[in-house]
Amino acid sequence: GTLIVELGDRSYPIHIGQGLLEQAGVYFARHGMSRKSPHLIISDGNTAPLYLNRLTDSLAHSGYKVLSFIVQPGEKSKSLSVYEEVITAAIEGGLDRSSSIVALGGGVVGDLAGFAAASYMRGIRFIQIPTTILAHDSSVGGKVGINHPLAKNMIGAFHQPELVLYDVNTLLTLPPREVSAGLAEMLKHGLIWDADFARWCQEHADSLLALEPEVLEYGLEKGCAIKAKVVSQDERENGLRAILNLGHTIGHAIEAIAGYGTFLHGEAISIGMVGSAMLGVRLGADPSLVEETRSLLQSLRLPVALPRELDTDTLMGAMMHDKKFKEGSITFVVPLSIGQVEIRKDIPASLVREVVEQLK
Ligand code: ADP
Ligand code: ZN
Repeated sequence: GTLIVELGDRSYPIHIGQGLLEQAGVYFARHGMSRKSPHLIISDGNTAPLYLNRLTDSLAHSGYKVLSFIVQPGEKSKSLSVYEEVITAAIEGGLDRSSSIVALGGGVVGDLAGFAAASYMRGIRFIQIPTTILAHDSSVGGKVGINHPLAKNMIGAFHQPELVLYDVNTLLTLPPREVSAGLAEMLKHGLIWDADFARWCQEHADSLLALEPEVLEYGLEKGCAIKAKVVSQDERENGLRAILNLGHTIGHAIEAIAGYGTFLHGEAISIGMVGSAMLGVRLGADPSLVEETRSLLQSLRLPVALPRELDTDTLMGAMMHDKKFKEGSITFVVPLSIGQVEIRKDIPASLVREVVEQLK
């Protein structure tokens, strides 16, 4: 299907389906992309061998000039030095204002390529071809960027893609852990906004895990649609958009202290969402909320507890460094029930500590 994301005075389509990679040239043409200017594809060492040829063939077949630049897989490619290499490739390749930068890959490639597109010649077109489930989340909202050695995602911009081509066939090669981790972010969209969608995720968990195309298409489209609804009401993150951070305060702290790579982002926020449910119950939600949240996440084969040996003080310390922390209380997205959350700016650190203990 096709979802039109409307943000302010701009809109762009997200096409979701099977075999879109092979039709990329057709979509480029339909979208009025220039055949005179070169287009630069950014991909990584895992996705390029699998999918880059199919994409370049399709674009070349439709008369497009394409160049590619392959980065190493993983977060370390979201760096200033790799960013410089991408810009060098863009200059050497002769990219001009009618060119585009195309991201073929997951969140890392999307963030890096998107930031290059946002900043090269003060901004050129950005096209996203996500190859992970998690990337459905970053295909809406326009946040792009790279890391500074001192802080993650510290250098960035808002730059909406021109076009998103989501070929669900490319997801078939994802490692199982990456599949579950991506589904965590999909389920999150149900947990913050739509109880029916959260229950749908559970009912179709086996089909989602088996990467059945029609089921995936529906889930991705719904996830993107919910995110688009939230973001369109709050493009620059002043209020409502913060609900997208459900599970992320604890999740980011887990990622930071466990060492990147120990927990995937989706796994860390899964544990974080259980913690948020525990907090919700302490603040008045029905006690069944915790078990219900756990069961939803477990159906997607996600972790729901912290390793016992993880040190509470270290985790609390990492959370205090989170920019949402202010004078002894923490801003938290707190669930009221499945599908409904509220933003609380007054959560005492001591309450969060109790939840962390409970999570072990
Ligand atoms: P995300 O943040 O969306 O999870 P990453 O860019 O970190 O994305 O990708 C996660 C890992 O999966 C990386 O090692 C990447 O190279 C790999 N990867 C991405 N897409 C695919 C795919 N379709 N098949 C196999 N591996 C993939
Ligand atoms: Zn996230």
